Amino acid sequence: MRRRTFLSLLPAVTAPLLAKGRDRVLVLGAGLSGLAAALELSEAGHPVTVLETRQIPGGRVLTLRTPFAGGLYAEAGGIAFPDNATNALRYARDLHVEMKRLPESTTPHIYYLRGRRFRVNPGEPGDWPYQLTPKEAALGPDGILAGIVTKLNTDMGPRTKPNWLQNAGKRFDRMATIDMLRNNGASAEAQELLRWTAWYTASADTQSALQAVLSGMMIGLPQEQAAHAVPGGNDALPKAMAAKLGKRIRYNATVTRIQQLKDKVRVTVREGNAIRTLEADRIVCTLPFSALREVEFTPVLSKVKAEAVAQLKYENVTRLFFQMKRRYWADARVSGDASTDTSLMQVLEEPRHPMTTGVDSPGILEAYTQGPGALSMKSYSTEERVRIGLNDLELVHPGAHREFVSATHQVWDNAYSKYELGQFSAWYPELIKPEGLVYFAGEHISTLPGTMEGALESGIRAANDILHR
Ligand SMILES: Cc1cc2nc3c(=O)[nH]c(=O)nc-3n(C[C@H](O)[C@H](O)[C@H](O)COP(=O)(O)OP(=O)(O)OC[C@H]3O[C@@H](n4cnc5c(N)ncnc54)[C@H](O)[C@@H]3O)c2cc1C
Repeated sequence: MRRRTFLSLLPAVTAPLLAKGRDRVLVLGAGLSGLAAALELSEAGHPVTVLETRQIPGGRVLTLRTPFAGGLYAEAGGIAFPDNATNALRYARDLHVEMKRLPESTTPHIYYLRGRRFRVNPGEPGDWPYQLTPKEAALGPDGILAGIVTKLNTDMGPRTKPNWLQNAGKRFDRMATIDMLRNNGASAEAQELLRWTAWYTASADTQSALQAVLSGMMIGLPQEQAAHAVPGGNDALPKAMAAKLGKRIRYNATVTRIQQLKDKVRVTVREGNAIRTLEADRIVCTLPFSALREVEFTPVLSKVKAEAVAQLKYENVTRLFFQMKRRYWADARVSGDASTDTSLMQVLEEPRHPMTTGVDSPGILEAYTQGPGALSMKSYSTEERVRIGLNDLELVHPGAHREFVSATHQVWDNAYSKYELGQFSAWYPELIKPEGLVYFAGEHISTLPGTMEGALESGIRAANDILHR
């Protein structure tokens, strides 16, 4: 081995990052939570360095621009921010990122359920192939879910109240999402319908109802919440945050070890072929637990944190994007958006801010498959996934084979945290406590788990804990 290569493999402790009197902070991860923590800390005068394994910021906020025609793009990660995503809207405003309301759909939504394709006009009842009660049939799946989630959210009270988690929150956390639906009057058939048509019900049998209520509120429920997104791609938000941090972010820097010493923390980082060691006074660790499992802690984490890191589950999501020659579904004056019990689950037209309403312009249809469906999609080869997807898309929007140009996909093993029964109320109060000099953040350690706003909230919370300790 050449001497230079050998030397670069040796751990080299870098010079301290310290500015006197201010804590040097290392932030692990440049997703929304890490970027928020780093911005808050550096604005308060702390020397901050962000370590990010990839070459770009944003983590699970990821906009795809290839192989799409005509400047089209699609969100492969976080899609929409509702009105009450106050931190996201504030960062966007301060950083001059345009965050715009998504237009409300005025065209019929397509359903392909139990072998039948039908359309439902916005605001009108549908002819559901399910034995729903008359009230359920009138409300439709979105209305049924919104009613239940809104009621439970009112029961629970604001998350800003002390003990919000101890009372109703804890009760909901002991209930699976499907039981929450049943206990709140959803008929067996309505529960089945919701499995296919609602977000956050893909793992309804095992997922905590508390998370469904918390995250559901962020993902556009109740219905009066308007959704927002950045025209041109949501990645503009993390990019603007990263631009403000500039050289304080080190890309291609993979954290492999966190070692707590008496009055500082040592982090081992792999940068290309080099293994480096950085020291700081405090750390904000935003890595999803699926990634943190690969990181060695010395000394080992305390009992509850170690249990949470080892056991927290994440939802599987597969997103298949079909570039179509034309927005051919608009020929029939229907929305590209659809819900189905085929392998596709949710069909969305991308981008969510339409770049055109013309039928003859190129367009993208996306299949958003969650939960067990996403896992089985993942087991197929890319070609097979596209073949199965196109066959099912033909049922939902006939003409798919004829109009198809190309496809791309994004497979997520860790799309968002998926708390199971009792886990959130047992773990969250412990996870927000620092472990020595290490503070934890990320969507999974927020009061809005599974969301972009939750990620920002958690980063700000960790920064404030350092600033006000
Ligand atoms: C398919 C999908 C759809 C979604 N839809 C929505 C939606 O519509 N609305 C909504 O609000 N939310 C949505 N979300 C959730 C939202 O995107 C996430 O909750 C949020 O972006 C997570 O941010 P984070 O900072 O917690 O984690 P991440 O964005 O995952 O950031 C963690 C960072 O750590 C880095 N990292 C990992 N390991 C290491 C290591 N060893 N060393 C250094 N760096 C490392 C990663 O590369 C990453 O950049 C969606 C997510 C997905 C995947």
